[in-house]
Amino acid sequence: MRKATEAAKPRADSEASAVGQCLCGAVEIEIGTPARWAWHDHSAATRRAHGAAYATYVGSWRKRFRVTRGADEITRFKDETTGTTRSFCARCGTPLAYERARSAHMVNVPRALFTTRTGREPRYHIAIDQLQDWTYLGEALVPLKGFPGVVWERPNRKKRGPARRVSG
Ligand SMILES: [Zn+2]
Repeated sequence: MRKATEAAKPRADSEASAVGQCLCGAVEIEIGTPARWAWHDHSAATRRAHGAAYATYVGSWRKRFRVTRGADEITRFKDETTGTTRSFCARCGTPLAYERARSAHMVNVPRALFTTRTGREPRYHIAIDQLQDWTYLGEALVPLKGFPGVVWERPNRKKRGPARRVSG
């Protein structure tokens, strides 16, 4: 078994892959592409872990997932109530992976870590019933006068679609 202190070798050039990294760059990961699948996760645990309205993941077979740099910087949190383990960079806090005990062969990686294609579009949703009413859903935006670079959703517009729920 490979020691945690030893960085895995990058995949051979002949194998398509997507490379990702954390915010500070200490940790780099790589998955073989195409990924197994991709989805948006709206669950409370994932919202908290990411500090975001939802997180988009790509699922990789474990054997196609590698930490190519900074394995020593990775810290893990096991959530005993859900049986999940979340890995993140101990230096910058970036979420790196999400693993479920009942899916031992899969490693789920935040899509945002990758700058290149992963071979899967996120067409699926988990916990869509928990979609937050503050999530941006593509409403029309206009420039905010006096604040270059800031756009906003004009008030007093009819909220579109039944997906909007009152959830605080
Ligand atoms: Zn980092």
